[in-house]
Amino acid sequence: MSRLSVRILVHRIPIDIPVRTSFGTMLNRPSVLLRIEDEDGHVGWGEVWCNYPAVGAEHRARLLESVILPLASETGLLGEPARLWGVLSERLRVLAIQTGETGPISQCLAGLECALQDLAARRRKLPLHRFLAAGSGNDVGVYASGINPSGAPETAARAIAAGYAGCKIKVGFDAALDRSNLHEARGAIGEGVPLMADANQAWTIEEAVAFAADVREVGLTWLEEPIAHDEPDEYWMRLAAETGARLAAGENFTSLADFAALPARRALRYLQPDVGKWGGLGMALEVAGMARAAGIAFCPHWLGGGVGLLASLHVKAAAGAGEGFVEVDFNENPMRSRLTEDTFRTLSGGRLKLSPKAGIGECEAAVAEFDDCLVLRKDILLNALPAGREAVGD
Ligand SMILES: [Mg+2]
Repeated sequence: MSRLSVRILVHRIPIDIPVRTSFGTMLNRPSVLLRIEDEDGHVGWGEVWCNYPAVGAEHRARLLESVILPLASETGLLGEPARLWGVLSERLRVLAIQTGETGPISQCLAGLECALQDLAARRRKLPLHRFLAAGSGNDVGVYASGINPSGAPETAARAIAAGYAGCKIKVGFDAALDRSNLHEARGAIGEGVPLMADANQAWTIEEAVAFAADVREVGLTWLEEPIAHDEPDEYWMRLAAETGARLAAGENFTSLADFAALPARRALRYLQPDVGKWGGLGMALEVAGMARAAGIAFCPHWLGGGVGLLASLHVKAAAGAGEGFVEVDFNENPMRSRLTEDTFRTLSGGRLKLSPKAGIGECEAAVAEFDDCLVLRKDILLNALPAGREAVGD
């Protein structure tokens, strides 16, 4: 492997119903995809988290083009994705601090790691989960996520009827609406079906305690990010102790130290790394091991497009049997649905089966169907050899 052809693709897929969270609204479905082809014609795919701010997808694409891919080429480590991630994280550490771009840089590195892992799996002709963990099963539990406050109980019922193991409703809007949504959703899906709520860091500690106590009888499987990530550990502990809420977090953790230390310091019961936000697949598996050792559930977070969703499903399968399931956005996203339609055809009883095809499976034709929604495309040739360090060119 001496040269890699990298294509950066930014899509904005139109949708009819905006996707609402407590901190912002998506009017279309953006994605930043990396398509990496080696000289033998193998193609790996990765996705960079880019939902917010709404203008952020194009920025991440330009970061990849101008900073991250040239630096990745210089390292000579394009054949060793997890090691490359570590080296690039260190090399970009000061730039990230200086620019305040910690998030976008980390997201670009994560998506690049996923694409190179997928490429490596395809070179070995193995499904991604089996490349990551020999002998891993292909069966993964999934829950429906991102359920908007408007019509939430009906949407929750549809998700369970469609075969999902559980569902998660967005809260952090109007407290009365949030409360009635959870109560009505519980009534609609029945007792015993996992029901979760995600506040996306909306509340003060006092609001979180009041809300969690108020909905105790709903029997939430977990309450996700009730307060901001940078609130003190004592607040998280207080919330769990006073209300009995089972807390979930991880999508906004930005270091292995966070994943190692915060579950115990914050009484977390569910750990939710995002493969396109931080660490890629190698670090997600590290986190899975930490979760297992701590006796808490590993539940990969994902609310982007189809490539990252498939990677999240594979990393959960690679992490092995155990408690926890993968987040699947239940909102409209035509390209995600098209990319994952074969996999989701197997959805039954809360679980689905991953394709035996190499990597994350076929992507090329599905992505090409959405060329009309491309807002940016850039082709770059990378020198993948350790020595030589030829110039990067278009
Ligand atoms: Mg969340």
